[in-house]
Amino acid sequence: MTTQLRLRSALALVTGAGSGIGRAVCARLAREGATVAACDLNGAAAHETVQLLEGPGSAQGAPRGNHAAFQADVSEARAARSLLEQVQACFSRPPSVVVSSAGINQDEFLLHMSEDDWDKVIAVNLKGTFLVTQAAAQALVSSGSHGSIINISSIVGKVGNMGQTNYVASKAGVIGLTQTAARELGRHGIRCNSVLPGFMTTPMTQKIPQAVKDKVIGMIPMGHMGSPEDVADVVAFLASEDSGYITGASVEVTGGLWM
Ligand code: NAP
Repeated sequence: MTTQLRLRSALALVTGAGSGIGRAVCARLAREGATVAACDLNGAAAHETVQLLEGPGSAQGAPRGNHAAFQADVSEARAARSLLEQVQACFSRPPSVVVSSAGINQDEFLLHMSEDDWDKVIAVNLKGTFLVTQAAAQALVSSGSHGSIINISSIVGKVGNMGQTNYVASKAGVIGLTQTAARELGRHGIRCNSVLPGFMTTPMTQKIPQAVKDKVIGMIPMGHMGSPEDVADVVAFLASEDSGYITGASVEVTGGLWM
């Protein structure tokens, strides 16, 4: 496959970069020429991601470029602000591409869900996305730079899912937050889009019992689960000028599940 270098001058901040979709996004953006600021709650995992990244022109698998790892809990306002400050201090500019992939789930049926499980999931998935989007937008606007903000939601944010009231509410919130940010930030040259993955093979879905997986796979028109790279392909498109007139969109990457 010929890799295009659509992101040669981009600085990309990716949260949830230590695992699954976030790690695949870092790899794809780096392959397209971006410098990557990889952030995760697990700082060691973010560092491991950076070790895996390539730069343009490097031999396959050889790390190149000045990618950097950061540790932050995106659900903490002070940590999210400090993350943006650290990235700007490190690279002397705000990130022009921001991908919020940090996310958790704590599944339980509505009748039994604890307030704590509700609060935790909303704090990371929705408030964390808000905090990172806001801090990044403030940095871009005050420096007069254009940018592309991409928030990872989920197809269940559109259609609901059994046992996931907290997660679904957070992901529906991410869609609304992103659409509103798109309306407010368009005049500053900042595009905001969300990506709605379906059922992807990552550590998050590893814990699902095989019988449940088989049932969901049976509902996917493409007949199989997606990969983190399937999501990364779409994120790279939304990060690049190939999507220069797309903002406020929610792009489904589901193999047709729950279309
Ligand atoms: P994953 O492999 O579990 O990766 C999520 C990453 O986010 C982990 O590295 C996790 O770190 C990090 N994280 C958790 N809480 C954080 C916090 N407070 N601050 C910073 N980082 C934090 O899951 P994934 O499947 O790649 O999911 C990535 C995104 O895609 C999530 O938003 C998820 O909801 C969404 N999504 C996934 C699927 C799917 O089928 N996999 C479908 C739809 C949407 P720790 O490991 O240290 O907790």
